[in-house]
Amino acid sequence: MTITLNLSHIGQAPRDPDITSHHKVTSLVGLTLEEMRDAVLALGVEPKKAKMRAQQIWRWVYFFGARSFDVMTDISKDLRLLLEERHTLDRPEVVERLISTDGTRKWLIRSAPGVEFETVFIPDVARSGALCVSSQVGCTLTCTFCHTGTQKLVRNLTAAEIVAQVMIARDDLDEWPSTTDGRTLTNIVFMGMGEPLYNLDEVAKAIDLMSDGEGISIGRRRITVSTSGVVPHIKELGNRTGAMLAISLHATHDRLRDVLVPLNKKYPLGELMAAIRSYPGLNNAKRVTFEYVMLKGVNDSPAEARALVKLLSGIPAKVNLIPFNPWPGSQYECSDWNTIHTFSDIVSRAGYSAPIRTPRGRDILAACGQLRSESVKVRASLAFNQRLDAQASVSTLTPADSG
Ligand code: SAH
Ligand code: SF4
Repeated sequence: MTITLNLSHIGQAPRDPDITSHHKVTSLVGLTLEEMRDAVLALGVEPKKAKMRAQQIWRWVYFFGARSFDVMTDISKDLRLLLEERHTLDRPEVVERLISTDGTRKWLIRSAPGVEFETVFIPDVARSGALCVSSQVGCTLTCTFCHTGTQKLVRNLTAAEIVAQVMIARDDLDEWPSTTDGRTLTNIVFMGMGEPLYNLDEVAKAIDLMSDGEGISIGRRRITVSTSGVVPHIKELGNRTGAMLAISLHATHDRLRDVLVPLNKKYPLGELMAAIRSYPGLNNAKRVTFEYVMLKGVNDSPAEARALVKLLSGIPAKVNLIPFNPWPGSQYECSDWNTIHTFSDIVSRAGYSAPIRTPRGRDILAACGQLRSESVKVRASLAFNQRLDAQASVSTLTPADSG
């Protein structure tokens, strides 16, 4: 299999910060309505009118994806000039943009020096697709099968930086304005870099912005937050965001989960399962997704499939089986296709949907758990990927639901 790799670098000249002598020029992209109101007030707009002006600008930004103030025709020329002096509609810089042979796109985004994170768009069949967003740069947790886990936490992303990932993807996919028909970016999954429940304030704020029907308009039921099991924040996630819950389970007993997901030592399976059962609004239409990475000889036996079924008993659940995606230096192997299939059959026969997630974007290190924002590392990995793609196992995996 040959690799076609489109490498294009989008350079955005950063605006001169000294453009006005007294004020810092800041972007309005990613701000909430209240924050925009404050920005408008600071420009001298009468308090009585500030909310309405903010609403107009907010709609230009999030419904129309405006890139310049000129298009804001319902706003006076004077105010537009003022806005232009103190603000931009810039997105953070896209440092690298990769497109996989399977159509998966990955953007490496830099919002400040040393603050780099990745976003992946996974197109699906039938005109829909999911954007996989990052919530932190790096991760404090150290799951042993995950590439991001090898990168120390740099910092939490702000809501603005999380929302900017959606803005950048929409720009690139040419999906403005935010009308719902014909769009391919239909779902958002917090399955990029970082542990979203360790950054819940900003994640919740970002979800409010993404799901607002007057703006980006991606409904809360189409937004899934994946956690490795931060028990004390699970219920709170549901109450604050109404998002769908995904749990990175990967093992059915504590001894193994302690190794794969070290956070399990703090919040063992018993506590985790109890927290999941208390997730607000669970029913057959709103199920928990259990992610289970298939590691050869580690967690993939039929006995473990049966133990998984037992563990899920009584929970409205579906299972996503993720073939392990290797990365440079990883110590695991992906289970054989037959093994994965047997595992999936056992779980399905017990009544749970158990699709095998097709690995997407492996050639650009965009698949689950391959993200790690060190551009040097990403480039060094290209040779690794070519070897990987040459392995027959990748191409023999049957396409299935990509969750
Ligand atoms: N930190 C959160 C969200 C990001 S990880 C969490 O852990 O849930 C997104 C998913 O990819 C998780 O289920 C994670 O366990 C899985 N994953 C990580 N590394 C992987 C790898 N190398 N191969 C396949 N899946 C992986
Ligand atoms: Fe962090 Fe999730 Fe990777 Fe674990 S799997 S190291 S929690 S990003």
